[in-house]
Amino acid sequence: MAQVIDGKAVSAQIKEELKGKVAALRTEGVEVTLAVIQVGDDPASSVYVGNKKKACAYIGIRSLSYELPEKTSQEELLALIHELNGREDVNGILVQLPLPAHIAEEEVIGAIAPQKDVDGFHPQSVGKLCIGQPGFVSCTPAGIIQLLKRSGIEIAGKECVVIGRSNIVGKPMALLLLRENGTVTVAHSKTENLKEVTKRADILVAAVGKPRMVTRDYVKEGAVVIDVGIHRMEGNKLCGDVDYENVVPVCSAITPVPGGVGPMTIAMLMNNCVESVGLQGK
Ligand code: NDP
Repeated sequence: MAQVIDGKAVSAQIKEELKGKVAALRTEGVEVTLAVIQVGDDPASSVYVGNKKKACAYIGIRSLSYELPEKTSQEELLALIHELNGREDVNGILVQLPLPAHIAEEEVIGAIAPQKDVDGFHPQSVGKLCIGQPGFVSCTPAGIIQLLKRSGIEIAGKECVVIGRSNIVGKPMALLLLRENGTVTVAHSKTENLKEVTKRADILVAAVGKPRMVTRDYVKEGAVVIDVGIHRMEGNKLCGDVDYENVVPVCSAITPVPGGVGPMTIAMLMNNCVESVGLQGK
């Protein structure tokens, strides 16, 4: 029977730990503060922002909310970021993506002070991850490492295959697995003989964005399967990039969707907010 890796339980554990750290910082006079900026009112973004604010409230992090109209110019957004960069009472800055088409995301991400970059998307954060220096790490892959470690799954020396090479999931995932001494392969849409590549994996991470694409013929007997995908299907049902029912009989451990990787992303965002206090020398 495959171990079902419970992201809800692990994320709850991390949030409890963070609650304690935030309370301790408060006794030292530090109020951990996250500024959350949303431009426009995309319904999915509003749900994500709402969940992040709820998590802040639960842990005791103060959240400052900036809900800007869709027509906000890039200059106006950059001016707000510069203001928040300079505020000593703000530890983390999060700009909810995607931004409206008239705003260049790269410019906005690059404008956030690296020591407040709690999403871990700033080129300096990515560069530090690449050369093994401490810094902010993109929340979803950081959460996957926590899931593996806290489930007692060894990474060192294992064959790890990541399907997907996006800047926010696939690439940082590969770098983190490498940092944990995994032997890492990154597969993508141009990979030849994908099933042969993925069947080498002791740990297979699917971040491909295609509902239920990974079936049992992609999976080695006994592999650990991490499903990053989230897709809303007919009847409002959620599924991942992995065909769960099909794969579960052959793997040794698997993350479900929902309740696997998803809850870890916000937990790690909260973790980054708490860590940002240290980076600002408080
Ligand atoms: P992207 O669309 O940015 O990247 C998908 C990657 O998969 C690309 O590198 C692409 O290759 C590769 N790919 C696409 N089709 C194939 C194929 N047929 N065979 C092999 N590789 C393929 O997605 P993201 O990385 O942003 O997200 C991946 C999934 O994770 C999505 O379902 C997303 O919703 C989910 N997600 C979940 C989060 C969570 O909190 N749980 C957070 C973020 C994302 P190429 O580069 O060659 O185009």
